Amino acid sequence: DELEQSYVESTPRSRELAERARDVMPGGDTRSVTYVRPYPSYVESAHGAQLETVDGETLLDVLNNYTQSVLGHTPEPVVDDVCTRFRAGNGVAAPTEPAVELAELLVGRVPSVEQVRFCNSGTEATMNAIRAAMAWTQNERVCKITGGYHGTHDVVEVGVADEGREHTGIPRTAEQRVQTVSYNDTDQLKATFEAVGDDLACLILEPILGVGGMIPATDEFLHTARDLTAETDTPLIFDEMMSFRLAPGGAQQRRVIEPDLTAFGKLIGGGLPVGAVGGRADLMAQFHPETGSVDHSGTFNANPATMAGGVATLRELDADAIETLNQQGADLRTRLQEIGDDADQPITITGEGSLFQIHFTDGPVRDLASSAAGDPAAEQLFHELRREGVFIAPRGMGNLSTPMTDSDLDQIVTAFDRALESIAE
Ligand code: PLP
Repeated sequence: DELEQSYVESTPRSRELAERARDVMPGGDTRSVTYVRPYPSYVESAHGAQLETVDGETLLDVLNNYTQSVLGHTPEPVVDDVCTRFRAGNGVAAPTEPAVELAELLVGRVPSVEQVRFCNSGTEATMNAIRAAMAWTQNERVCKITGGYHGTHDVVEVGVADEGREHTGIPRTAEQRVQTVSYNDTDQLKATFEAVGDDLACLILEPILGVGGMIPATDEFLHTARDLTAETDTPLIFDEMMSFRLAPGGAQQRRVIEPDLTAFGKLIGGGLPVGAVGGRADLMAQFHPETGSVDHSGTFNANPATMAGGVATLRELDADAIETLNQQGADLRTRLQEIGDDADQPITITGEGSLFQIHFTDGPVRDLASSAAGDPAAEQLFHELRREGVFIAPRGMGNLSTPMTDSDLDQIVTAFDRALESIAE
């Protein structure tokens, strides 16, 4: 159609690269979330709030690597510290000071975190958090949220909807170990704990359901989760990979609730691959090389350049920066909802702080089922917004970064207004 034609015409170099890529990588990509039809556009460089594509376009980046680049791209103080540390020696099989600094920062900022371990991705963080919980409880059953995304290891892949496509490669035994609950369904959570509460290794959830629709948890749901896990001595794991940006101590500080373990990732590596598990000292003791029983190794764990990048990022992302981002996010969501209310299509904007998602439904959106996930209009919106120079997730998710100006925010609003008009035609 016309939209696709204009995309293809404006992205000849990306098309060339995508064709080459298809010969050597399945589908021409290595991340299922960056794959878009007819092919993704390739990025040449990224600075501040902008992406420059290989086709010479400049796009306002409202995706920020799925919330990772909270300071925008290549923030000078972070790049400086990463490069300095890299030059000072990288990749040694011995601990270095930047890891101590980053661990101290996390322990200092997050009240529930007494001890920390670093790894290389969010996937590893949730995998290790669940292992620590299994070791501590001697149970194997995991309770998680339908549509809750915690990375790509076996048990957390269970219950992740992908537009009706079944994921294979996950053993059935993993499925048997998992109990799923709808987000914000307090009754279902209670019933699950009544049935299997004593057999659980953990309850893992995001304080705001991220990939599942950027849906905040209700206070009732979070507190019920805390009460039920406390009553049954089940470790409660918060996945704060996206929500850590909501307050200096993460969503748990903002919502005043303390989990037993927290999985971190994304922004705490300053743009380099990272993950971390933190929490109660007795649970974290499972990783102790002498007295614990959970083996935790990794060639790149606590890579010094990554740690230096994390330290610099947290230094920049102080309480004032977070407050500004949260305010900008709240204003933006209000403005987008106002446009949605006047549009021909039903629109519900969800989110919290600087995180948001556009849903093509009347709402209320409270879980994966009500989020209208996989609506084809979302993909059309992606292309329409892109044509207006605004880059969001193909499923309608967006988030802000600190270098964004008022005029950037105006651009998002204007682009959304125009995009909805085009979609309605
Ligand atoms: N948990 C959440 C909430 C995430 O959003 C993500 C990443 O998208 C992950 C876990 C997985 O992290 P990674 O991609 O670093 O493995």
